[in-house]
Amino acid sequence: MTAKPPSAPPRPGGLLTLGPDGPAQAGAAPSAPRSPAPRPLLVDLAVAVVAVGFGLSVGLALTATSHSQLAAPGGPALFLGNLTGLAGTYLALVMVLLISRIPFVEQVLGQDTLLRWHRRLAPWPITLIIAHVIILTIGYAQAAHTGILHEIGPLVNGFPDMGIATAGFVLMVAISVASFYPIRRRIKRENWWALHLFMYLALALAFAHEIVLGPSFVGHPMTQLVWSVAWAASAGLVLAYRVGLPVVRSIRHGLVVEEIRPEGPGVVTVILRGRHLERLAVSGGQFFEWRFLARGMWWQAHPFSISARPQPPYLRLTVKCVGDFTTALAGLPAGTRVALEGPYGTFTAHALRTRKVALIAGGIGVTSVRSLLEDLPKGTRPVVVLRASSEEELVLREEIAELVKWHGGRLHEVVGPRTAQPIEHLAELIGDIKKRDTYVAGSESFVASVTRLLALLKVPQEAVHADVYAL
Ligand SMILES: Cc1cc2nc3c(=O)[nH]c(=O)nc-3n(C[C@H](O)[C@H](O)[C@H](O)COP(=O)(O)OP(=O)(O)OC[C@H]3O[C@@H](n4cnc5c(N)ncnc54)[C@H](O)[C@@H]3O)c2cc1C
Repeated sequence: MTAKPPSAPPRPGGLLTLGPDGPAQAGAAPSAPRSPAPRPLLVDLAVAVVAVGFGLSVGLALTATSHSQLAAPGGPALFLGNLTGLAGTYLALVMVLLISRIPFVEQVLGQDTLLRWHRRLAPWPITLIIAHVIILTIGYAQAAHTGILHEIGPLVNGFPDMGIATAGFVLMVAISVASFYPIRRRIKRENWWALHLFMYLALALAFAHEIVLGPSFVGHPMTQLVWSVAWAASAGLVLAYRVGLPVVRSIRHGLVVEEIRPEGPGVVTVILRGRHLERLAVSGGQFFEWRFLARGMWWQAHPFSISARPQPPYLRLTVKCVGDFTTALAGLPAGTRVALEGPYGTFTAHALRTRKVALIAGGIGVTSVRSLLEDLPKGTRPVVVLRASSEEELVLREEIAELVKWHGGRLHEVVGPRTAQPIEHLAELIGDIKKRDTYVAGSESFVASVTRLLALLKVPQEAVHADVYAL
C-alpha cells in the first residue's frame, strides 16, 4: 500500500510557539515534500549487475592462465594468487558501494541494513587479499627456485607500482586488525570513523599494480578500461553522495540553531531555522547525520531523527544527552551553523503493508515515532505505546497524544522499571497486533527484545519495521 499524506496534519506542540511570528505563521507555512517512494526493482537490478560483475571478475582470473603457465614451477600458486586478488578486490569495491549512500539503494534498504551487509562482507575481501599476497609470494619463490622470505624484497622492489601497493596492503591490514571487536570497542567511535577513512587511501594505493601487473589486465586494454571505469565510478559515487550532495544541501538550507529548549530530564529539543526547507524532501521517521559547526564538534556527524516534519523555516530534532557530543550539543548558542547529510532511513509510511498501524517507542525512540505519526495516512488508527522508566522521561507526550487523537487511535503510556513492566505487556496492549504494521524505535536492546517478541507472536516479518538508535 502506498502511503497518502494526511489531508490536514495537525501542527501540535513546540514548534508552534516559536519566535516572534507565533503559531499562525508557522502553521500556515508550506510543508516540505516527502522523500521519494522506494523502488525495489531498481535495487534488484543493481544487485544483479553486481553479481554478474563478480562472476566476470572470477571468469577473468580463470581464463588468464594458460595450461603451460599452470604446468610451470609456481604456476598453480600464481593462478590462485591472481584469482584471490581479483575476487578480493572486487568484493572491496562492493563494500565501498554499500556505504556510498546512493539514494535509490538507501531508500529501499536503509543505512542500517547497508551497514550490516558492509560489516558482514568485510572479512571476505581482506582474507582474500591477504591470501593473494601470501600465495603469490609462494608462487614467485617456487618459480625462482628460492625461499619465500627471500622473494619478498625482489617482489616489492622489482616490479612497477609494487612499493605503493605494499604500503596500501599494510594500511589495509592495520585497519582490519583495528576492526576486530575487542580492539574496536576500545576506540572512540569518532576516532574509529576517522581511521576507517584511510581504507579509501589503501584501496587507491593498491589500484595501479592491479592494472599494470595483473595477468588478466596486461595486454588487455578493454579489461583495463572496464576495471578502471568501475573503480572511478565507485569513487565518484562516494564523493557525490557522501561529500558533494551534503555540502550542496547544507549550503542551500543554511541551517542555524534558533533555540535549544529543555524537553525532559537530560533531553533537549533543538530548533533549527533554514532557507528553502519547503524543498527538503524528508519523510516522518527519517534521520539526518548532523554536523554542528562549533569548536570541537564540526568534525563529527551524529545521527538524529527529525522529531517533527519540517515546518519551513523550521526543522526540529530532540536529543537525549548520553555522551560528550550530545551534552555539548545541549549547550550550543543560538546562531551555531549546522550541516546535514541525508535524509536516511526506511522507518517511514512508505513501508506500510496493511491498513492499521502500531507504534512502539522505547525512551528517546519517541522522536521518530512522533514525526512518523504526522505522515501516517488517515484511517490507520495507530495504537501508540510509549515506554519510559519514569513519567518525566515521556517526552513529547502531549504532541503524540494530540496526533493520536487526530488519527482516531489509542495511546498507552507504560512507565516503570522493566521488571514491573515486562516487554510482553506492550504487545498485549495493542491486541490485534498480527493485523497491523508494527513500527518499533529505540535502543538496540529495546528494539531487539520487542522484535523477538513479535516473532514469537508470529507477526509477519515484513510487517515489522525497526528504527534502532545505533549504527
Ligand atoms: C538512526 C538513528 C537515529 C537516532 N535518533 C536519535 C534521536 O532522535 N535522538 C537522540 O537523542 N538520539 C538519537 N540517536 C542516537 C544518537 O545518535 C546517539 O545517542 C549519539 O550519537 C550519541 O553521541 P555522544 O557522543 O553524545 O555519546 P557517546 O557516549 O559517544 O555514544 C553513546 C552511544 O551512541 C552511539 N553513537 C555515538 N556516536 C555515534 C555516531 N556518530 N553514529 C551512530 N551512533 C553513535 C553509540 O552506540 C554509543 O554507544 C539515533 C541514532 C540512530 C542510529
